[in-house]
Amino acid sequence: MIIVMQIGATEEQIQLVAETIRARGCEPLILPGQDRTAIGVPASLNNDQRLSLEAVLSAMDGVSKVTQTSHPYKLASREFHRTDSVVQVKNVVIGGGEFVVMGGPCSVESYEQFSLAAKIVKDSGATILRGGAFKPRTSPYSFQGLAEEGLKILKAVGDETGLVTISEVMSGDMVPLVSEYVDILQIGARSMQNFPLLIEAGKSGKPVFLKRGPAAQIDDFLLAAEYVLNQGNPHVILCERGIIPLDRTYTRNTLDLAAVPVLKEHTHLPVIVDPSHGTGVAKYVNPMAKAALVVGADGIMVEMHPDPKSALSDGSQALTPEQFTKMMTELRQLGEAIGRPLA
Ligand code: PEP
Ligand code: MN
Repeated sequence: MIIVMQIGATEEQIQLVAETIRARGCEPLILPGQDRTAIGVPASLNNDQRLSLEAVLSAMDGVSKVTQTSHPYKLASREFHRTDSVVQVKNVVIGGGEFVVMGGPCSVESYEQFSLAAKIVKDSGATILRGGAFKPRTSPYSFQGLAEEGLKILKAVGDETGLVTISEVMSGDMVPLVSEYVDILQIGARSMQNFPLLIEAGKSGKPVFLKRGPAAQIDDFLLAAEYVLNQGNPHVILCERGIIPLDRTYTRNTLDLAAVPVLKEHTHLPVIVDPSHGTGVAKYVNPMAKAALVVGADGIMVEMHPDPKSALSDGSQALTPEQFTKMMTELRQLGEAIGRPLA
């Protein structure tokens, strides 16, 4: 249940509502918003208790409306926030109607490699530059990223090109370091339920790009987002990046494109699709990127490397500069045709 207070409801009225909820044995979650406060009630009451509490609360001073949430997540739900949330990072608006493209290599490997990639991203009209400095690799013997050196390259190239930057942070204690260098904190698929990390990312107030875990259900995904939101950080962007496949013969993951309209229905948060990890195969990235645009995603994240054959991670799914530029041209044409212009 969510109690939406009136604009201008007093602190006393809010506390009285909270006390009334506590008197029924529930701990209220007070959620101050931009212009009004909402109060969440955990779903621990039976039907009769809920209806009786709803009647009492609806009549209280300062209460605008009482709505039932059918979901375990509250702040992430459309019931809590009807209109689409927009995350603005510098001059880039994510979730505002235009289709946003994030591009760049899986890993930052050197200044030369990364600045070359950034130039292609920028020249092709994409607005966000990706690159991992801390890499979550399945094997400890695989390339682990350049760590802080990689972040320094990322920041230098971001400053030179004016592109917004995004990079992964793998643990809560690394949030301050990564925040110093990048505009958007990426929380990787494997870290989706690293709760201390979600909390620290929430506390940082930085935009958070949260990837869906390979085995996460939609509710798990939105509850992970809820961890960031309930630290008072509304700047959350969701990313569908593929789930565990039935058949790994042809693709690395199964890109769950149906998750896009599902998420759009149940949450107000922007949704990005990652067709690179979603397929694991460079030649399937462009068609799935177009599909993402058509199903209503707010953008895509795509891996591109100046020389995929020599990439230190995820080379087989990286587009070449030519393929990336071609994808951008085709997305622009498609976007115009269906009224979803590229940012
Ligand atoms: C990445 O973006 O390079 C990455 C490691 O993605 P994911 O967490 O989706 O596997
Ligand atoms: Mn990768």
